[in-house]
Amino acid sequence: MKVLTDMLPAELAELLAPLGITVSESRRIFAHHVQHGQRNWQVRDLARGKIERIRQVVETATLEVADRRTSAIDGFKKYLFRLHDGHLIEAVRIPLLADKYSVCISSQVGCALACVFCATGRLGFHRNLDTWEIVEQVRIIREEADRPVRGVVFMGMGEPLLNYENVVRAGRLFADPSGLAIAGRAITISTAGVVPAIRRFTADALPFRLAVSLTAGTTTKRKSLMPVENTWPIGELIDAVREYSRARKDERVMLEYVAISGVNCGADDAAQLVELLRGIPVRFNLIEVNDHTRAFLPPDEHELNSFRDALQALGQPIVRRYSGGKDVQAGCGMLAATAG
Ligand code: SF4
Repeated sequence: MKVLTDMLPAELAELLAPLGITVSESRRIFAHHVQHGQRNWQVRDLARGKIERIRQVVETATLEVADRRTSAIDGFKKYLFRLHDGHLIEAVRIPLLADKYSVCISSQVGCALACVFCATGRLGFHRNLDTWEIVEQVRIIREEADRPVRGVVFMGMGEPLLNYENVVRAGRLFADPSGLAIAGRAITISTAGVVPAIRRFTADALPFRLAVSLTAGTTTKRKSLMPVENTWPIGELIDAVREYSRARKDERVMLEYVAISGVNCGADDAAQLVELLRGIPVRFNLIEVNDHTRAFLPPDEHELNSFRDALQALGQPIVRRYSGGKDVQAGCGMLAATAG
């Protein structure tokens, strides 16, 4: 038995063709469940006999919403989902302007990469999410939303590029007209720096955007913050980013930088970054660290502004990225899959 949202519309059509189901009927079934959020099998103009045959080979599956919390500060809404094996994951609904939402979703249960400033990293790794478990996060949130969901970011729990197949398949389903019809450019896949998978992402010429978490300008400093540096050092990472950039002529590479007071926001850090990124068109996103243990603190306005000023030598857009929902532990680096 196959789970419907583990398949792309074309794969469903292929599975159902031997049962006498046409491509157009198959697309209708897909849209009925995924796009229109129907839980029943009363698909318009489809004979009961056909539906019974389909149900012999396809099932639907979903996640249990264990908790929902909305920030009183900015309306960010955090969802806690319980999986069929009891594991918990989180996703965040993000208001965009006044008329739409983006959704930040998880790709794994926990994370093996153990970035020192991240609550998910402290959980360790349990397993990859199946495609349908990734898809359901967005589908459920979209179903409950009072505005359309126009974007998806893979920046929740887990390292998306260590679950490459399922993440890319979910992205394709989000973008499919019979799926959620979200523009490919509004789907962002973030990585802490899994170099072979970045190269694969480039070679696959996917319609999605890539974001790379950099967070330090030297290998020594990066090693102390992001152990992934021990496997794929910053030199290799920047080479892979440069190759991606060359392949995507019209796109700036999004670089994420978790700013930590007294650690990576000094004039020397800025100078190293300027040198490192020379010649690569990037958009440099500054995100202030959110560490509930208080081991790492965000820079104050003066420290952040000085760092930002020093980075102007890059000659590239530098954006202070808002990380919302902090009162419900929904901010970047805060997802720990607890109801508290
Ligand atoms: S920041 Fe991302 S890659 Fe690093 S530990 Fe957290 S979830 Fe994993």
